[in-house]
Amino acid sequence: MLDIEGMNAFHGDFQALFGIDLHLEPGETLALIGANGAGKTSFLRALCGLTRAQAGRFALNGQAMLPLEAPARARAGIALCPEGRRMFSSLSVAENLMLGGRIGRQGPWNMDSVCSLFPILREFAQRPAALLSGGQQQMVAIGRALMANPALLLLDEVSLGLAPVVVDELHDALVRIRGEGMAIIFVEQDIARALRQADRFLCLLEGRAQLAGPARGADLAAIGRAYFGET
Ligand code: ATP
Repeated sequence: MLDIEGMNAFHGDFQALFGIDLHLEPGETLALIGANGAGKTSFLRALCGLTRAQAGRFALNGQAMLPLEAPARARAGIALCPEGRRMFSSLSVAENLMLGGRIGRQGPWNMDSVCSLFPILREFAQRPAALLSGGQQQMVAIGRALMANPALLLLDEVSLGLAPVVVDELHDALVRIRGEGMAIIFVEQDIARALRQADRFLCLLEGRAQLAGPARGADLAAIGRAYFGET
């Protein structure tokens, strides 16, 4: 359903990605790993149209994505939960979630199903998002992306800066949202956790795909070498 061949991405004159290939089936989960500056965020932003990209092929469910601007890609089924959450902090939790629902597609995710996934959001629905803890805000950010009913959900470092118990809770939720035909690409610094959660992994190094394969049975030593660019 996601078909990418030879993707390059650019920040102005700076080329951040070089010739990335990726094919994902509905329901598949990919862990995107790599050191700081490897190009993980650039890749997610290139997919949703926020960073300029070129590719030999980039299609979602057969529809060419490159000609589409970011809002049209959201309508086509790509949703990003960005690093740093980016809440509308003066809006309530419910209003933040509703905004996610306005740009996407129809499907199983709505206020009710998101609040079943993260029950605390039902309790805090009318609170300004700014008053929530970091972990709760991250739940709002994931919920907001889900409200768009994406075919492809992109999650950028949802664990960053959160207490381990909160990270466990978020990752449990990710296990529950897998399947149902939605493909997921997530960036995670904890490689062991990433491999437990994912079907496949892709390790970037300086904008290039350094190593990729099935997560189950992956060779951790080889991933470590790919991560640090050791030969
Ligand atoms: P991190 O783990 O630190 O978030 P990353 O793997 O997500 O890193 P990117 O943020 O995609 O990496 O950065 C890839 C490269 O692109 C880096 O060299 C970075 O300096 C550069 N870069 C990222 N954003 C911009 C920008 N807006 N303008 C110029 N260069 C950028």
